[in-house]
Amino acid sequence: MSVPVPITASLYALQVPIPYPMKTVTVLVDAPRRGPVTLIDTALDTPEAKQAIEDGLAALGLHWPDIDRVIITHHHPDHYGLAGLIEERSGASVQMLDVEIGRGERYWHLWEEWLPGHLKHMRDHGLPAASLDGMGAENRKSRDRVHPASRVQPLREGQMVPLGGGDWEVLWLPGHADGHLGLWNEREGLLIAGDAILPRITPNIGLYAYTRPDPLGDYLQTLGKLEALNPARAVVGHHGPLMTGIQARARELRAHHHERLDFVRARVAGTPLTAYDLSLAMFNRDLNLSGRRFALAETLAHAEHLRLLGQLYRTWDEAEEAWLYHA
Ligand SMILES: [Zn+2]
Ligand SMILES: [Zn+2]
Repeated sequence: MSVPVPITASLYALQVPIPYPMKTVTVLVDAPRRGPVTLIDTALDTPEAKQAIEDGLAALGLHWPDIDRVIITHHHPDHYGLAGLIEERSGASVQMLDVEIGRGERYWHLWEEWLPGHLKHMRDHGLPAASLDGMGAENRKSRDRVHPASRVQPLREGQMVPLGGGDWEVLWLPGHADGHLGLWNEREGLLIAGDAILPRITPNIGLYAYTRPDPLGDYLQTLGKLEALNPARAVVGHHGPLMTGIQARARELRAHHHERLDFVRARVAGTPLTAYDLSLAMFNRDLNLSGRRFALAETLAHAEHLRLLGQLYRTWDEAEEAWLYHA
């Protein structure tokens, strides 16, 4: 049972179970005495998650139909999965950053059409043909736990959103997802961060077929933004609900990505390599298929960042039928 953790006057955090290594995702409930009831993020569409949210709402004297608005930090299944179901059960308005509606959210609606391109992108970067079927099946499993919303309303960077008795500024924090949204309460020095920054694990920065061309470049800018903002506390998507030391963590994550960039440069200095081969060296451990997919997308984000800076180039290898990165 997820006991609601108070964050501000009317804002509560639930730790909702997900079948991923992080074990839980943070779902926020804003239940002011007067004014709309808001949910921030929704967890996956699983019976366990639904029950945990229902219990959390009940502990606050609320039920599904009481929800007026759902704000989603980003389109990943563990944050967006129940958006459509809540929309149906409560008539709530679902809101996301405009950038995320155009790409990330669309992915769930166009999943069937986009899957071949998604797999081809992985194949073109060296994923063995033998892994493709398994990867497709993994993707389908994720898709089955997502109930897309039918009418998502756009929020814009810089817009103010009333929540928890205060005013929150909408931030655009791209990198982990193209249109990752943050909510910033300057008075309290409090950031609702989703997966834009996390304690203990580094947010996955991956280049996929449908993402902006340089997610790592985006993320390094986001880290700069977070460092300058210097929140006293942040509500985070995993291993939370609260974290402190955000400025120091942002610096640590930047150093981590620079180390990986050095690693990629050094590896391709002698031998041209595909992003997949690079990912085997960078994530040199046993990983299941979805782990390998994250590793490939993450490695590719680093290789492409260097290519766009003019520090690496790539050529198409006819024999391998894949891109090779060169120094
Ligand atoms: Zn995420
Ligand atoms: Zn997440």
